[in-house]
Amino acid sequence: MLPVARTSKSRKGMRRAHQALTGVASSRCPGCGQSRLPHRMCSNCGYVNRSLSLELEETTAKK
Ligand SMILES: [Zn+2]
Repeated sequence: MLPVARTSKSRKGMRRAHQALTGVASSRCPGCGQSRLPHRMCSNCGYVNRSLSLELEETTAKK
């Protein structure tokens, strides 16, 4: 089946008005102040929440 009528530039624009991308959420780490993803471990200091902080392994030198 083909569309009955061509979609106008206006109608196309109205449809696409709701398709904007949103930025990635981020929050500050209370431990070190760096930005991190919400509900994720801080990759800088290993902080998760008030009662849990994970030990970070030493990473080998980058290539
Ligand atoms: Zn941190």
